[in-house]
Amino acid sequence: MRRNWWTEVTLDTLPTPCYVIDEERLEENLKLLHALSEETGAKILLAEKAFSCFPYYPMARKYLSGASASGLFEAKLSAEKLGKQTHVFSPAYREDEWKELLLYADHLVFNSLTQLRVFGSRAKAAGKSVALRINPEHSTQQEPIYDPCALYSRLGVTKSVFDRDASLKDRALLDGLHFHTLCEQGADALAETLEAVEENWKELLSSVQWINFGGGHHITKKGYDLPLLKKCISRMQERYGLTVYLEPGEAVALNAGYLVTKVIDLVENGKRIAILDASAACHMPDVLEMPYVPPLRDAGGPGERAYSCLLGGPTCLASDVIGEYSFDQELKAGDRLVFEDMAIYTMVKNNTFNGMKLPAIAGMDRRGECVLLKEFGYSDFLDRLG
Ligand SMILES: *Cc1c(COP(=O)(O)O)cnc(C)c1O
Repeated sequence: MRRNWWTEVTLDTLPTPCYVIDEERLEENLKLLHALSEETGAKILLAEKAFSCFPYYPMARKYLSGASASGLFEAKLSAEKLGKQTHVFSPAYREDEWKELLLYADHLVFNSLTQLRVFGSRAKAAGKSVALRINPEHSTQQEPIYDPCALYSRLGVTKSVFDRDASLKDRALLDGLHFHTLCEQGADALAETLEAVEENWKELLSSVQWINFGGGHHITKKGYDLPLLKKCISRMQERYGLTVYLEPGEAVALNAGYLVTKVIDLVENGKRIAILDASAACHMPDVLEMPYVPPLRDAGGPGERAYSCLLGGPTCLASDVIGEYSFDQELKAGDRLVFEDMAIYTMVKNNTFNGMKLPAIAGMDRRGECVLLKEFGYSDFLDRLG
């Protein structure tokens, strides 16, 4: 990382709002994933959709086998900035992007037999590896919005559709199988899913060369059952001779970043409410989408400490509220707050609703010193609108 002494600052002096990548934590996650890969022979890819902060791709390159992209732009980013394998899964590839996509991708995963027929032989002719995303039809979670096995899911081919429609020619195109059904889950959910996959897809497992277990594996979270994951991997390697890929997003940068924000004002309406310069709607959309209350440094849940306070954003949206927390001291204007676990699904999802400024991006080294990597301004707002 480029460092200039005159730009070195700490969490206390960064401009706000600002995302901060904790380089030490990020590298710890990457090292754990690398060790898993070394030990098992499984190949691990960064799911870019969770974390595309490319200044850290050189670090990721040291530990991972490549990246998994959602489409053309992420594939290009992987090819340009990470420079190892580039796998792509898209629910539907576009004809007008296909030729360029082939410049960057080496593994292409199709979501339907029709797409396989349109693009599969062209991919093979270009020397690419081709796979089909299957729907294991085995839900391991309660949240339908994150469940690709939920009723009427458009993600992955079901066994009945495959059996009805797949020709010998379709089957012959397949080098790999892909599934992605987990979200923030343990190895037990993977083990169950593999059972379902084996039950329905045995024949294909025996004829392809690789399988991709998708993402959603909470590998770098404390308490994750690594031995069970290793068993799952070796089972597929030994029974079917498959190369195993995993494409975690969250696990790569879990707990490896912050959102630093400042209290602008405090209002009162039954409770004390702080207005921050960071917005849930714009800068941490998963807080409203999932929804969840993100961890906040040096604060407790409501009522746990002496002074409770709702924290809200500076937009017009009534629901732009991050959550209720409590503090040892009463919050006041100018106080800095640090939201934890803000590297993933944040920078890649933020927006400029209400003309909000996008948070700056900084990196923090082992000593706690920060380097500002990027600041945004009016032109970033303007550029997207005309
Ligand atoms: C979202 C996604 C991932 C990454 O999921 P995480 O929960 O961030 O690990 C991997 N593969 C596919 C196909 C996805 O849609």
